[in-house]
Amino acid sequence: MADAPRLELEHVTCRFDGREVVSDVGFAVRAGEVLCLLGPSGCGKSTTLRVIAGIERQTAGAVRADGTTLSDAATHLPPEARGVGLIFQDFALFPHLTVGQNVAFGLKGPKPEVRARVEELLARVDLAGYADATPHMLSGGEQQRVALARALAPRPRIMLMDEPFSGLDNRLRDGIRDETLQVLKEEGTAVVLVTHEPEEAMRMADQIALMRDGRIVQKGAPYNIYNAPADKAAAAFFSDINVIPGRVQGALCDTAFGQFLAPGHADGTEVEIVFRPQHVKIDFDRGGRGPNPTPQDGTPARGVVERARFMGHESLVEFRMDFDGGILKATVPAVFLPKPGTPLWLTVRRDRCFVFATKR
Ligand code: ADP
Ligand code: MG
Repeated sequence: MADAPRLELEHVTCRFDGREVVSDVGFAVRAGEVLCLLGPSGCGKSTTLRVIAGIERQTAGAVRADGTTLSDAATHLPPEARGVGLIFQDFALFPHLTVGQNVAFGLKGPKPEVRARVEELLARVDLAGYADATPHMLSGGEQQRVALARALAPRPRIMLMDEPFSGLDNRLRDGIRDETLQVLKEEGTAVVLVTHEPEEAMRMADQIALMRDGRIVQKGAPYNIYNAPADKAAAAFFSDINVIPGRVQGALCDTAFGQFLAPGHADGTEVEIVFRPQHVKIDFDRGGRGPNPTPQDGTPARGVVERARFMGHESLVEFRMDFDGGILKATVPAVFLPKPGTPLWLTVRRDRCFVFATKR
């Protein structure tokens, strides 16, 4: 099928000893596209990846590549017949082989062709001339690039990566992420990347599939998932959040910050208004008064600085709010680091709030 996605999962469910750890997972990844499986530890990301690789067999559902079934109720191709490359966190190069031999490991064919492919790949990952080095002579980042070259060598249609960057130190990580992404895009490989870090997912992904308790709770481009989360927990996975409770009347919700739109919620529904700390605006106290209310920003509410932390590019300020004695968080440019005890006025960017029915 010419227009079939490179990789497709349909209703994949995986049970271990009667416990369902992957539930009805489905997604499609096109050639040259990166899908990130994002979620907390234990939510079923690695199991999903192992099902795609053929290391684990699903209880139900199908995995297809370019329209061909890799596994379903009737079929189960072995891992080596799937055209799938794998990179794991402990990407373990063979220590007794040279870099070139590591990259050549999965390659068959005449020697000159293998050598040419190895050289091409080492150049691709910026390690031209390293073929005769042994792994222990290389830094962690260089070893990671060898692992990438090794996984790419047999030209897999699909690359599966399980937390591949988490063993690298912070300073190296960004560069290697970007290089890896570029190489995979150039090769036209469909990529499934597992990570529990939202920043990594947003940096790498064309699509994020957010997982919780074995299920995909939301799927979409990073921008959409961040700016239109499916529920409170999805919002909270990407940043600190503030939550204020309210009750809907006439598709509106009255709060200390003024009225919020609550379309689609019936009268009397208890809701939570959720907003990120960067969408709180801070204003000075003018003799016990804040700024004048505006249609854009709503009503200011007074809070007293409880704690302020300098974070480099911004400061995180926690306020004890007058209206309910609760804490709200705001991030502000780091030039501003108010002292504890300072009274300030907060307004909320109403167009950046999410209103969810309260879950009981
Ligand atoms: P993640 O990669 O998101 O951290 P995993 O897919 O590794 O999560 O694991 C999901 C759940 O399945 C965990 O509770 C884990 O203990 C369980 N699990 C994983 N593999 C097996 C297995 N082979 N047998 C039994 N339970 C397993
Ligand atoms: Mg895992």
